[in-house]
Amino acid sequence: MTAYDTNNIFAKILRGEIPCHKVYEDEHTFAFMDIMPRCPGHTLVIPKEPARNILDISPESLAHVARTAKKIAVAAMKAFNADGITLQQFSEPASGQVVYHLHMHVMPRVEGVMLLPPATRKEDVKALEDHATRLIAALKG
Ligand code: AMP
Repeated sequence: MTAYDTNNIFAKILRGEIPCHKVYEDEHTFAFMDIMPRCPGHTLVIPKEPARNILDISPESLAHVARTAKKIAVAAMKAFNADGITLQQFSEPASGQVVYHLHMHVMPRVEGVMLLPPATRKEDVKALEDHATRLIAALKG
């Protein structure tokens, strides 16, 4: 498997070198809005530990990601008045992975509404700001 690339875009987000719409951070994980959401509220959870994908991440770091994904999922149900949650994680090009720092997609779902195909369109900054604000409020309970 290819080695972890420290210059991937999510590593740059973690280092604060490029901006993002952050919704949550703790010692081990970081969560922010996907810029090309497949549904309103589409959030990405990443480990702080460098990991390309499921194949090289440590079990401990993956567990931290899972814990944060659950927090985001519960908050997203409330923030987006959702009926369900889709979690997705892609590993290696054959799976559809395009950014090589492990990320878990957390997508709030509404009954009968299909997900957009990946990378359909870049969301408005205002909408991303609004979605992040709603999630942050829901995370506070
Ligand atoms: P994948 O590697 O296929 O699991 O998905 C990568 C995801 O990252 C896609 O859903 C993109 O829309 C998203 N993405 C790419 N660049 C950024 C960025 N700078 N900020 C937030 N999301 C991003």
